[in-house]
Amino acid sequence: MIDSHIHLDSYNEEEQEQILSSLSEYNIDGVIAVSMQLSSCITNHKLHLAHSKSVHPTYGFHPEQALPSNSEIQQLIKWIEEHQDEMVAIGEVGLPYYMRQEAEEKGVPFNLEPYINLLETFIALAAKLDKPIVLHAVYEDADIACDLLEKYNVNRAHFHWFKGSSETVERMMRNGYYISFTPDIAYEEEIQQLAKNVRVDRMMVETDGPWPFEGPFQGQMTHPRMIHAVAEHLSAIKGLSIEETVQHIRSNTARLYGFHHKPKG
Ligand SMILES: [Zn+2]
Repeated sequence: MIDSHIHLDSYNEEEQEQILSSLSEYNIDGVIAVSMQLSSCITNHKLHLAHSKSVHPTYGFHPEQALPSNSEIQQLIKWIEEHQDEMVAIGEVGLPYYMRQEAEEKGVPFNLEPYINLLETFIALAAKLDKPIVLHAVYEDADIACDLLEKYNVNRAHFHWFKGSSETVERMMRNGYYISFTPDIAYEEEIQQLAKNVRVDRMMVETDGPWPFEGPFQGQMTHPRMIHAVAEHLSAIKGLSIEETVQHIRSNTARLYGFHHKPKG
């Protein structure tokens, strides 16, 4: 299987080496290395050059941070267009749910509009470059993202670590979008319930590392090997054997990211 969403550039160099050199030991085919902003894109680009068979980069701007200036956006888009051949998707992009919630709790006004405009820019870019898109958009934000995806006819969308209503999941399934699960499926009831509504041909696994997990993963450095535990929980929830579950996850990831069309290495 592939860890479909990891911030490889956020680990220190020693940890990156440790992770990449142990993938085959854990039967992991590779990782999709998502980017936070231009400097993160450049690090992931270098990691891809050094490990082209196992590091599949995506390039974008993570929404849970202050907005870039217009010239920074133009610079990033230009860089992405120049590196589109090695990039497996646009991402991580989306809307700032947690930042907005924090601001609202403190009574600070938060203007979502420019973030929606930036997301629209990235969705239009995914359509133009004919690439899938990796989305950070939870709860009601996901419906805004779905509206924009529909507007640009972008069908290859990956909602990572999605949380939200069963109506939104239903809409994503109708539109052909994919949802990935993290190790929190081991202990989060909300995620276990959500997994019941996700079609077996649309589910993937991820770690969002180095984000730390609780429950059985408490105190451990987040490592792509944890996707095996995620698959085990999905197999129990879906009532499938572990082999069938892994088969679905592998073919879903390959189908969305085009790995069968363009094998790396
Ligand atoms: Zn992420």
